[in-house]
Amino acid sequence: MDKVDPRRQIPRTNDLLALPAVHEARTRLSERVIRELVREVQARARRGDIPPGQVESALLAAVAARRATTLRPVLNATGVIVHTNLGRAPLSAGAVEALVAASGYVDVELDLADGRRSRRGAGARAALLSACPAAEDALVVNNGAAALVLATTALAAGREVVVSRGELVEIGAGFRLPDLIESTGATLHEVGTTNRTHLRDYAGALGPATGCILKVHPSNFWVGGFTSAVPLDELRSLADANGVPLVADLGSGLLEPDPHLPHEPDAATALASGADVVIASGDKLLGGPQAGLLLGRKEAIERLSRHPLARAVRADKLALAALEATLAGAAPPVVEALHADVEQLRRRTDRLAQALGAPVVEHEGRVGGGGAPGFALPGWAIRLPEGLAGLLRTGDPAVVPRVHAGSCLIDLRCVPERDDDRILEAVRHALAALGTASAGRAG
Ligand SMILES: *Cc1c(COP(=O)(O)O)cnc(C)c1O
Repeated sequence: MDKVDPRRQIPRTNDLLALPAVHEARTRLSERVIRELVREVQARARRGDIPPGQVESALLAAVAARRATTLRPVLNATGVIVHTNLGRAPLSAGAVEALVAASGYVDVELDLADGRRSRRGAGARAALLSACPAAEDALVVNNGAAALVLATTALAAGREVVVSRGELVEIGAGFRLPDLIESTGATLHEVGTTNRTHLRDYAGALGPATGCILKVHPSNFWVGGFTSAVPLDELRSLADANGVPLVADLGSGLLEPDPHLPHEPDAATALASGADVVIASGDKLLGGPQAGLLLGRKEAIERLSRHPLARAVRADKLALAALEATLAGAAPPVVEALHADVEQLRRRTDRLAQALGAPVVEHEGRVGGGGAPGFALPGWAIRLPEGLAGLLRTGDPAVVPRVHAGSCLIDLRCVPERDDDRILEAVRHALAALGTASAGRAG
């Protein structure tokens, strides 16, 4: 008797699309994505990877597992607070609420009382000025790099940006501030040397071609030994004598000094020392959404706001909402993690370690995100076998541990306490999977 080709038993597309669970998935997935899933499962059956009788159940599983976004929330167990690969700053509950509220129609540029157009982002601007009274005005753009591009374009396109050779920083993933600045049509006029730059170096460079003096905080490295740099207040006198603006790119986003981070510059101090414009990121130490903050003197900020490029780098309504809420609300997760109580961290770590029968080791947390290089935050980690790391990252919830010196380390500094038990379960799960895998190898 002839055998029927099993591939002819693969359910048809229309029958699969008509399954109730597949039909209902249209409320969260596009028609195109659903059809892709159908085709994939049919292809698996055609290749003989699954029998035709399992096509339906495989499709239901694929539809249930598919999310509209492929971005997966992770629990950050690395101890690195502003983790660039994990999206930098996690938002506070208040900021999340604000951004959800702003996701629909919202009065971002409308005065509801008189029905006229209003200044975009007025709430975020007011919150910044309230949190940093040293600034006369503020402008929010897309990110720190955009803020720097806007400032150097508006103040120095076709002219020179005078900057120390010790401050020509690569910020990460190959992005170099000097390249960014030159892309604006400004010319870099480098002064001094890698380790030492003096006031006379700047003085010798200033002239009719100068657009601005730029001071960059070398946020992701530090130089020691025979070094010197010129502080902002000394550059102020020089800027005044030559009638050129003084721009300070701080990177980190601290608005005022933090005694915890004595070497990290802050906007209030930079403005008091005479910067006309201070640049910082919203999603580093400030703990808010991705944004570039420009704070400074009224005339300088107005000049930037009026430049056509300002429109190309403007912040979106979601970032404006989340930034305002970060500034006005309770301390965001970045600040909490930075100031985490060491005793409490120890208690949480001990509890999980005991439940797992794993050792606790000393482990230093980091600020990360290119901030406070070399600055260690004392803490602890649970030490587990290195082979667990991959299982944890691909588990549900996804947990990202630190892999170091042959171990998988779980640092709870950046894990909200309410998620401790989820970490515990994830580790138990991964340990069980690891046990099964090694038992399989042994057998
Ligand atoms: C991080 C950083 C930037 C870039 O800011 P983004 O918000 O990442 O675009 C620019 N300058 C310095 C000094 C920085 O540390």
